[in-house]
Order: sequence, then structure tokens, then C-alpha cells
Amino acid sequence: MKAHIAYLRYVLRHKWFVFLACRRLGVPLWRSIIHDWTKFTPAEWSPYVHQFYNPDGSKRQVNRADGGLHTRNLDVAFNQAWLHHQKHNPHHWQYWLLVNDEDGTVPLEVPFNYVLEMIADWDGAGRAITGKSDPAGWYEKTGHKMILHPETRELVEAILEFHYDWKPGTVRMTAGEKLSAGNPVYIGEDGKARKA
Ligand SMILES: [Zn+2]
Repeated sequence: MKAHIAYLRYVLRHKWFVFLACRRLGVPLWRSIIHDWTKFTPAEWSPYVHQFYNPDGSKRQVNRADGGLHTRNLDVAFNQAWLHHQKHNPHHWQYWLLVNDEDGTVPLEVPFNYVLEMIADWDGAGRAITGKSDPAGWYEKTGHKMILHPETRELVEAILEFHYDWKPGTVRMTAGEKLSAGNPVYIGEDGKARKA
């Protein structure tokens, strides 16, 4: 029970800070309110509780230094819950990945409002966990691993520049990283797959 209460407090704190960031960035009100609603569904609730909290309500150590999740600590139930979350929440870039027989993983363009909500999510998550709003820092650390449509990446960077004083060019991808981070193929304006 203590673990559930600790997690509930965390989710509400996260939602509050994301809500504030959403309002600042101009995310539609309804999206700002329902952000991450699937975390309250049975498919996600308990696996998240057990992944992040001990039965006494204390936090489990599952995070890497850079804030990314340590895959070897993730149990199957959590992986399923995280997959459920990605597939039901368009503010996650993973939602927009099309796995195609022919072309492999193809990032589709993310609509503007969901790009805003994604950045509000990075902002609010940082404030809820570390007390500091730093979506640009998050993007610098993890942006090279995100598989984004080129237009979406441009948009993300423009928003970070405009709202968070992000300095362009700080996310450097080596050729190898670029490949593993995907982006090799995307859908062009004509609807056809293309090499980035
Ligand atoms: Zn989410």
C-alpha cells in the first residue's frame, strides 16, 4: 500500500509540473489535463509501482546516472507496461514509429501539439525528479538516441531554442550513432519512404 501511495504522489507531482509546462508552451488545455492518463490503467499502474518503489514506499534504485533506465533492472511486466504507455500516448516519439516490412523502423512526423507536449513532459519530469527544469539538457543527453522524422527533429530543436535557450549543434551524432538511432528512413511529403 505504501508503495502505491508513494507512486501516486509522484505521478500527481509529475502531472502538475507537466501541466505547468504545457500551459507555458501552449499545449491545448484538454491534453494538458489528461497527460499520461494511461498510467492510471491496470496495464500500467502496478508494474510501474513495483518497478520504482519498494513495498515500504522507498524508491528503488533503477536509474542510470544519466537518468535513462537500466534495461537489466526492467522486469517483463514493466517492459509490457512501458510498451503499453508508448503505444497509447502520442506525446512519446516511440508512438510515431512505424515498423514496416520493407523499410524497417520508419519515424512518422509528430503533429505540432504532441511535440509541444513531449517537451513539456521532459520539462515536468525533470522538475518532479530533480527540482530543475532542463528539457534542453535532457535532449542533449538523449536526443541522439531518439528516432525522429527530420522535420520533427527540426521542430523539437526550434522549440528548445525558443523556449529554453538551447544552443543548436550540441547534439552530435557520429555516423554509427545516427544509424543505430534510426533516422535512416523516413516518409517524405509524397508519402514515400526515403533515406535521410
Ligand atoms: Zn508519458
